Amino acid sequence: MIKVADMHKWYGSFHVLKGLNLDVKEGERIVICGPSGSGKSTFIRCINRLEEHQRGQIIVDDVELTDDVKQIDTVRKEVGMVFQHFNLFPHLTVLENCCLAPLWVRKVPKREALATAMEYLERVKIPEQADKYPGQLSGGQQQRVAIARALCMKPKIMLFDEPTSALDPEMIKEVLDVMIELAGSGMTMICVTHEMGFAKTVADRVIFMDQGEIVELAPPGEFFSNPKEARTQQFLNQIL
Ligand code: ADP
Ligand code: MG
Repeated sequence: MIKVADMHKWYGSFHVLKGLNLDVKEGERIVICGPSGSGKSTFIRCINRLEEHQRGQIIVDDVELTDDVKQIDTVRKEVGMVFQHFNLFPHLTVLENCCLAPLWVRKVPKREALATAMEYLERVKIPEQADKYPGQLSGGQQQRVAIARALCMKPKIMLFDEPTSALDPEMIKEVLDVMIELAGSGMTMICVTHEMGFAKTVADRVIFMDQGEIVELAPPGEFFSNPKEARTQQFLNQIL
């Protein structure tokens, strides 16, 4: 579903991603962790081309990411993204947030967009909030709206960038529960998170990134009980 081969990125003269390689199969769930500034956000943002890479290859669902605008639109339709700070439109209701892209990008008829939105709001357990504005909801509720909104585009891949790190502790579980349910449904997912319980339950493979490199990549059993690299060990000691 995703192939990344010897991918490099620079911000100006700063070499932020240094030759990343990753193959993700359909239905696979990958968790990425690593210290702040290691390039995790930049990496997943390259996968839906919110950032451009300069060397190597990224292929998403058989489309190679290049400067070709049409291809970028194709990929963006298939790749949903959830951000740390929700990024909902504050002036639109929950339901309008969920219908916007299906109506304008996918050209779905209005009745169908509304029905799909309600279906996903039920799935994330907040259908009763449909007519409220984001500012009237808790952080956990807003993040569940953001997940529902992404799902309304019927993406093939979901990217999560630290979806629980801006939440108060009591709201983390309600968001992780939605993500666990989504993982169980067979969605291809890449999640940047430091929720190691989530990684253990859900991930097929866990990646540790440091200084723009994939330092370690292993199934969770191996990753947590027997990390090969000293840097991974050190990081796990700090957060566990
Ligand atoms: P992480 O998500 O792992 O914390 P990021 O991908 O956000 O890391 O950032 C990786 C490095 O790239 C950091 O040193 C950060 O300061 C730098 N960086 C991120 N975005 C930009 C940008 N738009 N311009 C220049 N440098 C950036
Ligand atoms: Mg980040």
